[in-house]
Amino acid sequence: MTPRIPCARPALAEEGPDVRAAIARVVDSGRFVLGPEVTAFEQEFAAASGAADAVGVGSGTDAIALILRALGIGPGDEVITTPISAAFTALAVLTVGARPVFADVDPTRLTIDPAAAAAAVTTRTRAILPVHLYGQPADMDGLMAVASRHHLAIVEDCCQAHLATCRGRPVGTMGVAGAFSFYPTKNLGALGDGGAVVTTDAALAARVRQLRNGGQSARYRHDLPGINSRLDEMQAAVLRAKLPYLAGWTVARRRLAASYRHALVDAPVTPLDEQDPGHVYHQFVVRTDRRDALQHHLLQRGIETLVHYPTPISLQPALATESPADCPQAALACGEVLSLPLSPSLSMTDLTDVTTAIGEFRER
Ligand SMILES: *Cc1c(COP(=O)(O)O)cnc(C)c1O
Repeated sequence: MTPRIPCARPALAEEGPDVRAAIARVVDSGRFVLGPEVTAFEQEFAAASGAADAVGVGSGTDAIALILRALGIGPGDEVITTPISAAFTALAVLTVGARPVFADVDPTRLTIDPAAAAAAVTTRTRAILPVHLYGQPADMDGLMAVASRHHLAIVEDCCQAHLATCRGRPVGTMGVAGAFSFYPTKNLGALGDGGAVVTTDAALAARVRQLRNGGQSARYRHDLPGINSRLDEMQAAVLRAKLPYLAGWTVARRRLAASYRHALVDAPVTPLDEQDPGHVYHQFVVRTDRRDALQHHLLQRGIETLVHYPTPISLQPALATESPADCPQAALACGEVLSLPLSPSLSMTDLTDVTTAIGEFRER
């Protein structure tokens, strides 16, 4: 049974006609990989993100891996990252042969705790990979202080944080580069996979551009051991059609989040604090020690919620043996977090249904 109120709605809405026209334009053009749509999208996305340059790639995971590769990070190197994220964040580190090292999260925003990051630094550490989780920027001031003290690069995972800012500075521009995903349910989503690297470092951008296309410096000349991770024309055209709506969608997400906060003041759940007004609410997350029962209660009323994430990445089988780590705050949070329905088109009626159903949970 499909839920009456889904957690996210990736279906086309107001932007539908623009997206369909964009697809038709690519179908008729005969250019399908690395053409004018990708070039134009790169310029438009860089401008929207406040970055000097953007490079379109195959996914958010590849965006992270390509930045690490371009920085020369590989076997023998360590990258400090967070235990609460899509596991793809840490898997990207593994794909370049480096080792992810998990630092526990700050309980107020569930992003890397700078003190834990500092404690995780070794002689092999090359970079810190924070995630702007749920659309809320990580504590970049704290992390940048740690990074500069130990001469580490900061690579920002911005996959949930399109247009987010940290004390006024755009995400992806504080570290050496930022990685974005355009997976269909992200705040800016393609009709398939896609990603981008943003950076203000022209040399790094050029290196990523070369690496995403087999390391070629010219056709059939492979100077670097690159990969195939090209954004295709179809997805670039779709993203160009949707990009002009992103600022409005972000305003809608913030408004809905404020409405949730207001309606949940006396509810038996605790919304995660907003530490920065630059939060773009990829998710609206609450905590409760009766999470599984609440999720079941809501689903019975046709309300879908999701858990981001049920397991710290440090405990995932693919990573636990690689990088054992004790992250008690992350473990506690993974047992308590619940993402409520949120998309720009969520109606106030549906939002009220959600908060009313949560209120009823207390009485049971
Ligand atoms: C979605 C996501 C990724 C992975 O992006 P893909 O495009 O699916 O590869 C990485 N990190 C975070 C925080 C994400 O939300």
